Amino acid sequence: MNERDSEALACLLEQAGYTEVADEAEADVMIFNTCSVRDQAERKAIGKIGFMKKLKSHRPDMVVGVVGCMAQNHGAELLTELPVVDFVAGTDQLHRVPEIVDGIRRERGRVVADELDREIRPELDAHRYGGVCAQVAVMRGCDQFCSYCIVPHTRGREKSRPIPAIVDEVRRLVDNGTREILLLGQNITAYGVAEARRAGVYKPAEFSALAELLTELNGIDGLARIRFTSPHVHFMNDTFIKAIAELPKVCKCFHVPLQSGSDRMLKLMRRSYTSAEYLECIRKIKAAIPEVNFTTDIIVGFSTETQEDFEMTRQVMREVVYDMAYIFRYSPREGTKSAAEYPDDVPEEVKHERNQILLSDLEAGAAERNARFRGRLQEVLVEGVSKRNPERWTGRTDLNKVVNFMPSPDVHVGDLVNVRITRTTANSLFGELCQQNG
Ligand code: SAM
Ligand code: SF4
Repeated sequence: MNERDSEALACLLEQAGYTEVADEAEADVMIFNTCSVRDQAERKAIGKIGFMKKLKSHRPDMVVGVVGCMAQNHGAELLTELPVVDFVAGTDQLHRVPEIVDGIRRERGRVVADELDREIRPELDAHRYGGVCAQVAVMRGCDQFCSYCIVPHTRGREKSRPIPAIVDEVRRLVDNGTREILLLGQNITAYGVAEARRAGVYKPAEFSALAELLTELNGIDGLARIRFTSPHVHFMNDTFIKAIAELPKVCKCFHVPLQSGSDRMLKLMRRSYTSAEYLECIRKIKAAIPEVNFTTDIIVGFSTETQEDFEMTRQVMREVVYDMAYIFRYSPREGTKSAAEYPDDVPEEVKHERNQILLSDLEAGAAERNARFRGRLQEVLVEGVSKRNPERWTGRTDLNKVVNFMPSPDVHVGDLVNVRITRTTANSLFGELCQQNG
C-alpha cells in the first residue's frame, strides 16, 4: 500500500511541476513514506530521516516531509524529535502534499496535517503508466482491530471505492500497456462491507462486493491477470470462493494470512477465526481449484505463545503447504490492545529461533514444490530483461513463479507466452520458449 501511495504522490507532485531526481543530494524536496507495523520499520525510518540533517546543512532550502503511518501515528511529535522535518502528512492527507510543499517553499514554516477522512480522494488514482504490472488501491483503512495491529489506528476506518471508479482506473492502465493488476486493501475481502452495512444490505454468508468487482475487471479486454491482497478468512464466503475459482483472469495464487495455528493465540490476537475454520476455507478453495498456491503471514512470539502453540502453527503450515510466508516476530505497538493489556513475554531469542524454524521448514520443501513444474508448459507474462542475468528474460506464471528464458525477437514485454520448464531451483524456474499465446 505504501508503494502504491508513493507512486500516486509522485504523480501528484509531477502534475504540480516537480520532477524526480536520481540523487538525494540534488533534491529540493525529500519525502519519506513510512510504515509503523513493526518497531524496526519506524526505527529504520527515523535513522534515515536523521541523515538528512547533513544534506540539509548544505541545502537549507530543501523541504523534508514525512508521510504515511508514522506521520499519522506520531504527528507533531515528529517535528519535535526530528528538527530536520518541515512537514508531516498523515495517511489521508497525501493529496495535500503538493500544496503543503509549495507553501513551505514560499514562506517556510512547519506543517502538521494528520486528520483522518471518511472519503478516498479521487486524485489518488494517478499512475506512472507503462509498467506490465500495476497496483490499484480499492479500499483503505481497516475495521478489524486485531489486537497487535496498528493499521486501524494509522489508516482509519474501512472505506471502499465504487466499482465504476476502479474499472475506469484499470481501463486507463490497460490502455497504457498494463497487463496485470494487483488490487490492494488491508482487508480486501471486506471491500464494500462497511458501505453495505450502512445501507442495511450486508448478509455475511453471501455478500461479496469483491466478487462483483473481480467479475467486472475480468471482463476488461487486454487485461490478462488479476491478483489481490490481503483477504481475511472471516470474509471468505462461498460467493467469493466461487468467483475466484471461476474467473479465468484471477490468478490462482492466494495470500491468506494465518498469523497463528493456535486457537488460543488467534483469540488473543482477535483474528475472528479458529484454525479449523481457516483450514476449512483452504480446503474449500483446494476443492474448487485444481492447482492452487497459498502464501501467508505468521507472527511468532506473540504474547504468552508457548512451544505447544508454536507447534500448532507448524502443524497448520504443514497441512496447507504454503509456497511462501512472511514471518514476523511480534513487536508490541503502542496504542494497540495487545501492547496495553498483554505481556511481551516471549524472549527475543525464542522469537528469533521460532522465526528461523519456520523459514527452514519452508525452505526444506521449496525445491520440491518447484520441481513439480519440470517438463510442463507454463503460461508466462513477460516482464523483460532479468536483473540477475541480462542475457535472459523473465516473467511470472499465474501461480506467481518467476520463469527465466532466452528471449526471441518476436516476444515483447507484456506478451503471454508458453514456456516449457526444463530446470528448477528453490527460487525459480528455467525454460524454453514455445509458441506465443498473444
Ligand atoms: N491485513 C492483513 C491481515 O489481516 O493479515 C495484513 C496487514 S499487516 C500490515 C501485515 C502483516 O504484518 C500482518 O499480517 C502481520 O503478520 C504483521 N504484523 C502486524 N502487526 C504486527 C506486530 N505488531 N508485530 C509483528 N507483526 C505484525
Ligand atoms: Fe491489521 Fe490486517 Fe488485522 Fe486489519 S486485518 S487489523 S490490517 S492484521
